Amino acid sequence: MAPSLHPLIDNGLVKGDPSFSGGVLRCLCPSDPVEVTLASNVAHNHACGCSKCWKPQGALFSVVGVVPRDKLSVTAHADRLQVVDPSATIQRHACTRCGAHLYGRIENKEHPFYGLDFVHTELAKDGKGRGGFQEPQFAAFVSSIIEQGFPPSGMAEVRDRFHKLGLETYDALSPPLMDAIATHTAKKNGKLPQDA
Ligand SMILES: [Zn+2]
Ligand SMILES: [Zn+2]
Repeated sequence: MAPSLHPLIDNGLVKGDPSFSGGVLRCLCPSDPVEVTLASNVAHNHACGCSKCWKPQGALFSVVGVVPRDKLSVTAHADRLQVVDPSATIQRHACTRCGAHLYGRIENKEHPFYGLDFVHTELAKDGKGRGGFQEPQFAAFVSSIIEQGFPPSGMAEVRDRFHKLGLETYDALSPPLMDAIATHTAKKNGKLPQDA
């Protein structure tokens, strides 16, 4: 049995609805779940192999996308959210009871991704399953799963499984996101004009 990449990926991708305008994410607590309401679809949704992202039990990857922070609001049991690692760039707000990460937020205004919150669409339980949320677009930080104990000899198969689903694999973020980070840095350093 091949290891799970992620439940939203293992059995093929379910396409999102491009006109989808948001939904509710709930933590895994069977009663009184923490609830976050998104007033927008996610963008740049992707599988991530880094060690910081919250993953379902047994999965090698997380699935994580972004929404503008002003489109996200905590609508139930905000008191049960706690930041997992206050020293991390992304402040991941997790339920203190079940451990699910409801959202990650960047508070450093200088960061290229300031203004975007990171969310896991598998927590959407709005009666439409994963609803119309954008399906994963690529796989990022793939080699990082080795750092968490995955055997290097299995990497070709992991990348192959992503490719068969039409997802490109990267060992950092995708080129458009890496370009966005570099552009932000160049503007800050004065190497590029502000309107580049
Ligand atoms: Zn919970
Ligand atoms: Zn990650």
